[in-house]
Amino acid sequence: MQGLMQDWQLTCDRVITHAKINHPDREIISRQVSGAITRTTYGEVYDRARLLSSALVKRGIKLGDRVGTMAWNNARHLEVWYGLLGIAAIYHTLNPRLFPQQLKYIANHAGDRMIFTDLTFVPTLEAVQDDLTSVETFVIMCDRDEMPKTRLRNAICYEDLIAEGDGDVRWGDFDENTACGLCYTSGTTGNPKGVLYSHRSNMLMGMTAAMGGAMNVTGSDVCLMVVPMFHANAWALAFTAPMVGMKMVMPGPFMDGKSIYELLEGEKCTFSAAVPTVWLMLLNYLEENKKKLPHLDRVLIGGSACPRAIMETFDKDYGVQVIHAWGMTETSPLGTVSHIEPEIADLPYEEQLSYRLKQGKPPLIVEMKIVDDDGNDLPRDGVVSGVLKVRGPAISKAYFGGEGGEILDAGGWFDTGDVASIDPLGFMQITDRSKDVIKSGGEWISSIDLENAAMDHPSAAECAVIGLPHPKWDERPLLIVVLKAGKKAKAKDFTKFLIGKIAKWWMPDDVVFVDELPHGPTGKVSKLELREQFKGYKLPTA
Ligand code: AMP
Repeated sequence: MQGLMQDWQLTCDRVITHAKINHPDREIISRQVSGAITRTTYGEVYDRARLLSSALVKRGIKLGDRVGTMAWNNARHLEVWYGLLGIAAIYHTLNPRLFPQQLKYIANHAGDRMIFTDLTFVPTLEAVQDDLTSVETFVIMCDRDEMPKTRLRNAICYEDLIAEGDGDVRWGDFDENTACGLCYTSGTTGNPKGVLYSHRSNMLMGMTAAMGGAMNVTGSDVCLMVVPMFHANAWALAFTAPMVGMKMVMPGPFMDGKSIYELLEGEKCTFSAAVPTVWLMLLNYLEENKKKLPHLDRVLIGGSACPRAIMETFDKDYGVQVIHAWGMTETSPLGTVSHIEPEIADLPYEEQLSYRLKQGKPPLIVEMKIVDDDGNDLPRDGVVSGVLKVRGPAISKAYFGGEGGEILDAGGWFDTGDVASIDPLGFMQITDRSKDVIKSGGEWISSIDLENAAMDHPSAAECAVIGLPHPKWDERPLLIVVLKAGKKAKAKDFTKFLIGKIAKWWMPDDVVFVDELPHGPTGKVSKLELREQFKGYKLPTA
């Protein structure tokens, strides 16, 4: 027997329609490429997204077409997402930090018909456009008086495109499993792979992210959305924010400490989400300029492990709660969130912190487990670690175009490529990427744990640990450190500091200092490049 409830497809156009009806005047603030701050509302974003949809339909964009965006977080970018998905075309976020070769591969693989770009990236696109075989039109997201002279094919100013529309367009009315958004991930091996979100998966993830056990947001919050829309589906915030009607603040290209502080305070933001690097820059700025954060209540930190120092400083110096989260492009992206649950609420601070620094527990729509190399389930004892696998309705079952072949095991589980433990309370802790784990004497050393321990050194700005070949132990850790500006330290300052904080046999065999670490397109340290850089480096113990 079927339930007698209405058949209402979960399509994402409903999100902005809901915001238009229920929160029409709630603001969206954007820092433009020029630095100027502009203000609009959910009502206006809805109206303009409909104008854009109708203009796109007139230009022949239809269900299933991919349209690229190379843009910062701003209201126009939001309009483009909704303008596309309303007519079941697919927003495809292009990460501007990609190398030209990767950019060409991704845009061609996706078959993007148009690319919407911020002014910043016009030169980048001009340099590669001859190799972008499917792109018919480039749309420059700027005011008319900002329109640059450009060689981009059929370039049109965004405002002129909007003016072509009349808003007379049909939204929704298609299956909720229809493709909605496309985001490529660099993955572990081979070419970048396209993660293809559906309307249903975005709706489920958007609602999940809002929940008390996740971002815990309502219409009373003001959200500074730092996580770029081109990274992992913007951590679902482009859906969650209009769903709950929270005011959105978008930093555009300016993510330095001062700019972030100005927006947090100027707009009285209560909530924000970003990778650790952004918070480090902000905390440095606050310390140097003796500023406080009276409005900010909590921040979501993910993308890479949250260092202890960040969580403690936010807690103790600024009264801001850090919510640590783990996820991947393939998981839409929230996979786990670390919250202060009753079992840890009364623990002494240090002990509680050790739980909060774990990556946390999955929301309802994510199942997870750890397995050994043969695929056998491992116990949830907080000690044993193994390959982390996940499954759920907002987790990839295949990559766009069948790239990478079959990605699920017989039980429908997706291998995250992360190595983790799960403790008896259910808190998951990432110990490494499976390809980064250091194998010493047959045992695993977690590069992440070592990095976190080294990061607590007061002179450390950034740390990375890689395994180098060793004749006796197979591999041994090398610690690579970037020092804070004006700080000096020697290798032995770090090894001394680590004594008692890590297992003895984990002690790095050497410490080297560099001016900067190589970062990948999503801001994570590129271990691949580091291994290349230190290829042939001889450990003093080898
Ligand atoms: P991406 O798909 O680019 O977002 O990268 C996903 C990967 O980032 C995960 O598989 C993890 O290796 C890493 N990651 C994300 N969040 C965390 C976290 N909180 N702690 C440690 N690693 C993380």
